[in-house]
Amino acid sequence: MATLETHAASTKQNGHAADGRIPVENPATGQTIGHVPDMGADEVARMVAEARAAQPGWAAMGYEAREKVFRRARKWLVDNRDRVARTIVEETGKTREDAMLAEVMFIADSFGYWGKSAPKHLKDEKVKSHSPFMFGKKLMIRYKPRGVIGVIGPWNYPLTNCFGDGIAAMAAGNAVVFKPSEITPFSTMLMQECMREAGLPDGVMQVATGRGQTGAALIEHVDYVMFTGSVVTGKKVASEAAKTLTPHSLELGGKDPMIVLRDADVERAANGAVFWSMANGGQICQAIERVYVEEPIYDEFVSKVVEKTRALRQGVPGEAGAVEVGAVTFAPQADLIEEHIRDAVEKGAKVLVGGHRGPGPGRFFEPTVVVDVDHTMKLMTDETFGPVLPVMKVRDEDEAVEKANDSRYGLNSSVWTKDIAKGERIASMVEAGSTCVNDAVSNYAAQELPFGGVKESGIGVRHSAAGIRKYCHAHAILVTRFAMKRELYWFPFSKRNAKLLERVLVLMYGRKP
Ligand code: NDP
Repeated sequence: MATLETHAASTKQNGHAADGRIPVENPATGQTIGHVPDMGADEVARMVAEARAAQPGWAAMGYEAREKVFRRARKWLVDNRDRVARTIVEETGKTREDAMLAEVMFIADSFGYWGKSAPKHLKDEKVKSHSPFMFGKKLMIRYKPRGVIGVIGPWNYPLTNCFGDGIAAMAAGNAVVFKPSEITPFSTMLMQECMREAGLPDGVMQVATGRGQTGAALIEHVDYVMFTGSVVTGKKVASEAAKTLTPHSLELGGKDPMIVLRDADVERAANGAVFWSMANGGQICQAIERVYVEEPIYDEFVSKVVEKTRALRQGVPGEAGAVEVGAVTFAPQADLIEEHIRDAVEKGAKVLVGGHRGPGPGRFFEPTVVVDVDHTMKLMTDETFGPVLPVMKVRDEDEAVEKANDSRYGLNSSVWTKDIAKGERIASMVEAGSTCVNDAVSNYAAQELPFGGVKESGIGVRHSAAGIRKYCHAHAILVTRFAMKRELYWFPFSKRNAKLLERVLVLMYGRKP
């Protein structure tokens, strides 16, 4: 089996400091597909030290040579796409389509994007100053790699949201130590093989497998932490990072709202709602998790999403086209989804389709549509992370925006209307890191756009110039080219100079407003 081969190759690479081994399950079949070492703090420290030793050489290779490595890695990834997709499907229980499009294709695209854009985003920036004291001086910002980046990833997109965050870091000249989720470690380990074959120097990429404590140990040693995961763990990561004042970026959970206005294309909106709430079994940080529909089209919208949800096929992901919805990857998530449905029904909600766990031996939850929901229910306020679409009727667009913003989260969001000017106006009223008009989630593929959350959905962004500059120290450099023997304001102080400086102060800032 691909994953077992991968595991064998990668454990060799990773060493043997296991404090025990962690079994990895295929959630769609319930079978154990392999084991990984549960690495302790010493092993993590050793990996970071190796990465630190390898980093200067990698940085010195320059952008062009790094881009070549990425090009070879992309070729390897495409040539090995079946093996990679199978590995992802086995450890997550997601469909082959999701693995191929949102992970393999996304990463192939990322190799190209960061390889090409890194030198553009990180070239020396000349700065002009407004200050007269800077007259004759040369000012610039030089982006220097921070050193060793720790990437801690979740289980829902093991390639995109774990390995994917390391590409920008490596493009900037950093070394990276990954801590994939203990639930889905094999995809990241497989990428170690990919990068090795693409010519990445030894030590630049390392994979520390293990549980939460392994992640916590990593934070202590690295120069920057890129974390993707839940709000609860994100807060722990921030407080752990505070102990060493390690800078970090947190990509956390969401409860993304969809606003469907009365003039929307109802058919497209219903298709979008079902796809972006059920794709990957709803286990997308920016899945549509709640829908607000204006009264005049509410009934039509609900009947369409019910019909489309009923038509979805769920089961063990097989060949392409076999099923639309796969398994629940993480065991406790199934309990949480069930709890959200139970809580909503107790408070008056009505389940129109689904609402139950699917048959075993794998772990499934039926694609579900719920109506008569309100904000007293967890289903409308907390992240469900399952194939569940709660739909709420609203009076008008004001109520829709108010409800959309009534959340502690603010990751992605969407507005659906045929009136583009209205769509853009309402988009800017939504409190979220991003908003799509007449689409959802797809902004993630535009890596030129920043992606990140507001409120409890996170700190910092991935993608765009900001998404690679965060992996760098912005070194401000001032060069004095033509100079007097001493500046006017240096020692020794004198009455004459003090007066002169005061006169400059009055002249510059003392004019009438
Ligand atoms: P978790 O927060 O449970 O775990 C994320 C990672 O952190 C895992 O590798 C985990 O290890 C590790 N970890 C756990 N405890 C600690 C600790 N004390 N210190 C350091 N690391 C630790 O998230 P999930 O894996 O459950 O992922 C799902 C969540 O991720 C959802 O909330 C989802 O919305 C969010 N997410 C956000 C995205 C975004 O871009 N905003 C994208 C994708 C997902 P282990 O698994 O081994 O316990």
